[in-house]
Amino acid sequence: MRRVLLILLAVSLAFTAGCTTRSNEAALPVVPVDPVPVVEILDPADEPAEAGPNAVPEPPAQTSVIEIGEPVSLIESLPYFSATIFYPVTGVSAAVDETIAKWASDVMQEKTEEIEALYAQDASLEGELSFNFSTYKIDDTYASVEENGMFSHSAMAHPVDIIKTFNINLQTGAIIPVDALVPEQGHARIFGLLKQQLLAKYPELEGALDDMDTSWLAQPLLQPEGIIFCLERGQLPTVLGTQRIFLSYEELGDAVALAQTPLAQSAQDTPEPTDTPETIYTSGQVLQDGPMVALTFDDGPSGTTERILALLRQYNARATFCLVGNRINNRKDTVLQIYAQGSEVSNHTWEHAKLTNLSHDEIRKQIKSTSDAVKAITGQPTTFLRPPYGSVNDTVKSVAKELGMAIVTWSIDTEDWKTRNSDKTYQRIMDQVKDGSIILCHDLFSETGDAMERVIPALIEQGYQLVTVTELLTYGGNTVQAGAVYKRGQK
Ligand code: ZN
Repeated sequence: MRRVLLILLAVSLAFTAGCTTRSNEAALPVVPVDPVPVVEILDPADEPAEAGPNAVPEPPAQTSVIEIGEPVSLIESLPYFSATIFYPVTGVSAAVDETIAKWASDVMQEKTEEIEALYAQDASLEGELSFNFSTYKIDDTYASVEENGMFSHSAMAHPVDIIKTFNINLQTGAIIPVDALVPEQGHARIFGLLKQQLLAKYPELEGALDDMDTSWLAQPLLQPEGIIFCLERGQLPTVLGTQRIFLSYEELGDAVALAQTPLAQSAQDTPEPTDTPETIYTSGQVLQDGPMVALTFDDGPSGTTERILALLRQYNARATFCLVGNRINNRKDTVLQIYAQGSEVSNHTWEHAKLTNLSHDEIRKQIKSTSDAVKAITGQPTTFLRPPYGSVNDTVKSVAKELGMAIVTWSIDTEDWKTRNSDKTYQRIMDQVKDGSIILCHDLFSETGDAMERVIPALIEQGYQLVTVTELLTYGGNTVQAGAVYKRGQK
């Protein structure tokens, strides 16, 4: 967890367009020849030695579990406030998804207003809000959603953790109200169980747990064998952080009102068959001396990633996908497919962290755990770092250098997350595109998928070769420096 004050100013990424005056008409066809060696940007030899040979590997960072639904996000990117709320579209019912989306937009609005008010009084203030989530399918009747958030600003001593849970009845398509799940007559029993567990773990709390109220039960999370009661930092009378306390259905008994207890009936989970990805490996194609651009997609993987991959296959084009690490294992097939069809997998940190607020070690963990998760699937580490919000400082650069990675931002910001409008995304790209452009999009939004239906053929029609970022940066024998920041091709 991040515990560092916001003390560093984000690097402001001034918009800068493409880098050459090359005319688009000079496009020559792409000619397939023998594969050229793939340029290795990441050199493992650059990594500092890990602790001794017997060192126990660090436990992996918290992975987002996605058992139902697809991620989407709400983003705010102001000079003084960087915020991303990832939340699920569960597909259970419109009512469920509207409730979750409304929660996300309410939180975003509330925190944006809070920061704006502070910023009005102190122009050096900077804030950050970040939510990642997990979804659980308990059985045929129940599912649950857990949102884990962090809110901080530069005038705060500690970041605030925020937890929000939703429990869903899949058969009625409704969110189960907390009062219905944990009715009042069961409260005393649950308080007793929570107290027992907390005292076993923190004996120093003896005597300090006598004033539990319903706020302690406000964020229950259904699980197959019981319920996790999520307690936010500050709920406990000491400075303990967020607590997740698991109580089994057996212990809870009739203190919990579920029409049918999930219990072990969910043990029948069958693993989904893994489809072999379609392999159209095209990275070996030598690019002729014509214009080229790199489409980049941040914040995936998601269902929209699959849709864009299908379009890229259709047009024999490539792109770069800057993945959020904690969701990678939910979509291993998608990650493998990106790689298999010659597109590129890049690193957008483990939990979409604003890296300029983190320490050297925290930054390293965010990047390395993501690269390791990708490597476990594709056999290859991630090629470069795409920092969330484009935020870079000297510490980020030095970690990237240690890990042998370049840092790649963009020259065209489609702002697809803001407009959520396929016409605007299409127009912004077509108005600004130049040879060497690196184009920032987000593969979380169906509108971005819609835009790509037109953008990809239109760019090809104008003579652009759609290549990966690595291909763009290394074209013509250019070298890429670890730790350096690139906004566009180097031709
Ligand atoms: Zn992002």
